[in-house]
Amino acid sequence: MLCIGLVGVEGHLVEVEADLSLGLPALVLTGLPDAALNEARDRVRAAIVNSGQRWPNRRITVNLLPATLPKQGSGFDLAIACALLAGAGELPLAPIQGVAVLGELGLDGTVRPVRGVLPMVAAAAAAGVTQVVVPQGNAREATMVPGLTVRSVDSLHRLVAFIRGESELLDPPPDLPDPVMTGPDLADIAGQDFGRYALEVAAAGGHHMSMIGPPGAGKTMLAERLPSILPELDDASALEVTALQSIAGVLPPDGRLIRRPPFQAPHHSASLAALIGGGSGIARPGALSLAHRGVLLLDEAPEFANATLQALRQPLESGRVILGRARGNTEYPARVQVVMAANPCPCANPAGDQYCQCSALARRRYLSKLSGPLLDRIDIQIKLQPVRAIELMTPSAPAEPSATVAARVADARAAAAARWGAYGWRLNAEVPGPELRRPPWRLAPKNTASLRVRLDRGTLSARGFDRILRLAWTVADLDGRDSPRGSDVNEAAQLRLGDAHDRQARS
Ligand SMILES: [Zn+2]
Repeated sequence: MLCIGLVGVEGHLVEVEADLSLGLPALVLTGLPDAALNEARDRVRAAIVNSGQRWPNRRITVNLLPATLPKQGSGFDLAIACALLAGAGELPLAPIQGVAVLGELGLDGTVRPVRGVLPMVAAAAAAGVTQVVVPQGNAREATMVPGLTVRSVDSLHRLVAFIRGESELLDPPPDLPDPVMTGPDLADIAGQDFGRYALEVAAAGGHHMSMIGPPGAGKTMLAERLPSILPELDDASALEVTALQSIAGVLPPDGRLIRRPPFQAPHHSASLAALIGGGSGIARPGALSLAHRGVLLLDEAPEFANATLQALRQPLESGRVILGRARGNTEYPARVQVVMAANPCPCANPAGDQYCQCSALARRRYLSKLSGPLLDRIDIQIKLQPVRAIELMTPSAPAEPSATVAARVADARAAAAARWGAYGWRLNAEVPGPELRRPPWRLAPKNTASLRVRLDRGTLSARGFDRILRLAWTVADLDGRDSPRGSDVNEAAQLRLGDAHDRQARS
């Protein structure tokens, strides 16, 4: 029997073979099975008996090939059951030669859905398999892979009857109507011009972002809307994102590739496993991987445990999470755009700083958790003020909807991709700082004069200088200029150092 195993996000074809011999009745599984797979013995036995088949009272050896590949989970049950019925001479396997069969068995012989069907089936198709049989509950997901005939089963009994030519397999359910796309939209946010602009720059340049502001300043609302102004995922990214959700068991049931960049906002009390992945059995992708190609919001960032924030560092650098397991490492992609949000102090008085009762020391200590190597990677660092009643109550122009902003973001990204394409970068955030200080990308001295003054005074670090240069390119891209001029550099400096009052005063 042909089946498919999963290591990280990669599927591998697995052959299941069974040998029945004389000897003490027993069922032995070989070929690196994990605990969940070892329990297949009991599930398969009960399912076969309860499906009205005869259990062969022999010594049964089931082998999973290739033996070097670690096998995890319960998706092999159905293939194991068929292989051993065939070994007992009860089932001619010719009708499903070359067909990959997936499914977990319940004790009563029903076939249950399994996690990770999309990447498994995609791997089978890539390996030249043209037909798959999957649990009914996974059929829609499997049909996302083009060029593959997908049939499904609800019970072992149905599959056995099909192989014997007595019954038919099930067709995948019909497609659902296209969903109406409704998500959080920037049009919902009144005021907060500075925050909206910072968000647009973050989207256009792929910059990580942090926001410090009192409760009610709209930090979470802004962050939630970042995916709505990012470009849709291309085919390869959509497949990666959908596969990760499939492995985590959180795929929506509509059987469509996920085209919107995902958004994850793990709570600050979330465990390390929930954040970066882990758990017993198959290591599940954590929030970091579920946000792959999308946005990871760390709300109330200073409340996260230090160890948790530290654990994010390496994945942010490499774009992947490596989870050490007893039977070898599991690796999941984790290329995310980080948004950090924090209150200015532990008391978090919604009325603003002037009512704060925290000592200066407490305030410093609170925000100091945001410093260090993680914050070093964050280009945009802004302060937000609470939205004033006047902004809420006097509707000036209606707030711009996400679609309008997304169009500008797409144009800016296209300009950046054209400029850096030859270097292998797509986004301004990917460009190493020193490159921007060297010809041909070095800006004319008059355009960076204000920054050099700050540098000389010691109010700006060399690293901060590079970050601002990077942001200046995004500001220029958004305005359709070939290269940043002095005003773009000043605007970029606001996104690094300024707060809402500065910008409102200017505009
Ligand atoms: Zn306070």
